[in-house]
Amino acid sequence: MDDCLFCKIIAGDIPSTKVYEDDYVFAFRDINPQAPVHILVTPKKHICCARAVNADNSLHVAKCFEAIAKIAKDEGLDNGYRVINNCGEDGGQTVMHLHFHLLGGVKLGEKVI
Ligand code: 5GP
Ligand code: ZN
Repeated sequence: MDDCLFCKIIAGDIPSTKVYEDDYVFAFRDINPQAPVHILVTPKKHICCARAVNADNSLHVAKCFEAIAKIAKDEGLDNGYRVINNCGEDGGQTVMHLHFHLLGGVKLGEKVI
């Protein structure tokens, strides 16, 4: 996707602080962190959002969650963490490339659910 910010970050055309990469997944620190650890975990494949996940592409989502477990361990989040996905306008998604926010490093407070 030529006009996708995260595709450009994954391609290295826009710099980021990479924390993890494999064949399926690219993860980097959020530019505006909301916790001591705030990492964006994205499939390398452009999937716009959670509502576009289906049987043909769900492997890429599973790989994101495998990566999240590894990254959380590497970041020392042994006491827990939060994973958030914002989907679509009402969900507060601002970058239309599927991503999971990995938040931790502090006891997280208020919950939506
Ligand atoms: P969303 O609101 O779509 O769930 O999350 C998008 C996230 O991307 C936000 O937390 C925002 O801070 C982050 N972000 C936006 N632009 C950039 C950027 O250029 N680099 C990095 N590292 N993060 C970004
Ligand atoms: Zn993209």
